Amino acid sequence: MKMHQFVIIGLGRFGSSIGRELIQLGYEVLGIDRDEETVQEMNKVLTHAVVADATEEEVLRSLGARNFDCGVVAIGDDIQASILATILLKELGVKKVVAKAVNELHGRVLERIGVDRVIYPERDMGIRVAHQLVSPNLLDYIELSKKYTIAELAVPGCLTGKSLSSVNPRGKFGCSIVAINKPKGIIIAPNAEDVLMENDVMVVIGTNESIEQFQEAIG
Ligand code: ADP
Repeated sequence: MKMHQFVIIGLGRFGSSIGRELIQLGYEVLGIDRDEETVQEMNKVLTHAVVADATEEEVLRSLGARNFDCGVVAIGDDIQASILATILLKELGVKKVVAKAVNELHGRVLERIGVDRVIYPERDMGIRVAHQLVSPNLLDYIELSKKYTIAELAVPGCLTGKSLSSVNPRGKFGCSIVAINKPKGIIIAPNAEDVLMENDVMVVIGTNESIEQFQEAIG
């Protein structure tokens, strides 16, 4: 199901960043925050922003929160408010609820009350940055499971001008190049004859170990 309308509770750094990006992507976003100044600022950006305490059921009900496809609870340090707002969104019937956790315990409680996805922004970003620091070619990655990853790797000098058949990461390491993102456009499911060039980005899928080995070999 495609999401169309989002309600974001808490318009601090995290919530406002999600809201701005969703608006850029063309979606409708209602922002709720108890701080008047924050709401004034975000009213210029979001479809609508209102001053309200999201821990009050009547408030959420009157704002029609249940009509939204997805709710994001982006309240940070006030863990009690985060939990209450999350429960209320779930009870009101918001289809998908995503919530930010400030620590593991907070995250566990959010999971227990049925949140669809818990996000640990600082922890997750820290992990991501650490991976990128130790692997200069690694631009981004998605963990498909504990074992498998999709990684975006910059093409290093040693691979420029080489065809996929000569690079052969599948034969050598067990990971596959499933796409090449070139400045002119992306090649999905490239052929063995496709050639890697400077400024290209390889999209690689495989086990964590196979991708690490490939990175080490080209790093
Ligand atoms: P960040 O780290 O993302 O900036 P903050 O904790 O600083 O997170 O911001 C959370 C936002 O949530 C603040 O703007 C705060 O006013 C808002 N907020 C906190 N509690 C409530 C609540 N009960 N109802 C509505 N907004 C809330």
